[in-house]
Amino acid sequence: MPEGLWQKCISCKEPVWQKDIDSNFQVCPKCNHHYKIGAVDRLNLLFNGSWQEMDAGMFSTDPLDFTATKPYKETLDGLSKKSGSLEAVVTGSGRIGRHNVVAAAMEYGFIGGSMGSVVGEKITRAIENAILTHAALIIVSCSGGARMQEGVLSLMQMAKISAALSRFDREKLPYISLLTDPTTGGVTASFAMLGDLNIAEPEALIGFAGPRVIEQTIRQKLPEGFQRSEFLLQHGMLDAIVERGMLVPYLLRSLNFFVG
Ligand SMILES: [Zn+2]
Repeated sequence: MPEGLWQKCISCKEPVWQKDIDSNFQVCPKCNHHYKIGAVDRLNLLFNGSWQEMDAGMFSTDPLDFTATKPYKETLDGLSKKSGSLEAVVTGSGRIGRHNVVAAAMEYGFIGGSMGSVVGEKITRAIENAILTHAALIIVSCSGGARMQEGVLSLMQMAKISAALSRFDREKLPYISLLTDPTTGGVTASFAMLGDLNIAEPEALIGFAGPRVIEQTIRQKLPEGFQRSEFLLQHGMLDAIVERGMLVPYLLRSLNFFVG
């Protein structure tokens, strides 16, 4: 048996055909576990394969000349060579049904989908483009939060994107935020929770600080399922949980509702 045809599902531990997962939007056909999908695959899913990328050549210049376990520049070079993408977000425009849509999808494979200056700038430009072209906006979050290698410059992106969203809001155009596993830190604390609709994929980890930090701070045991989509929906932090296979019909219905 050639390798890679079968895979043991990390959630239900059942053997599943890789091609059954691939043809099911990277969702386990046996237990419905939603595997992470890359930014380009996500935009292909949203736009049925037909979209134009925006600001593709933008990359970080390491403004702080930062070194963690290794120099930040080396990390950036290595990742862009390995993954072919230059940053942790891909933005583009296309159509969902009759609606013009500008979308941004975050790439977890690029430093944990972390938000640095380029992520902030690309999302801000996407929002400004949506204003200019009178398009709806969809942002798909998948991120560990702000990018520490860019220090305060990454934190400033929270304010920059939120300000752009506020200008977008004044145009009475719809913004749908989709939170996927995981959406945490400064991304949750800014644009991911500012949608006209905030929706999530099943069982996504969504929060600001991690559960261990919270338990140590409040000295209490956290309830079961804390910071998962289902818990957040129950407690009024989300508007809906949408399975990946139902995502496009759901978005189309919502856009029809908003735009009329
Ligand atoms: Zn499974």
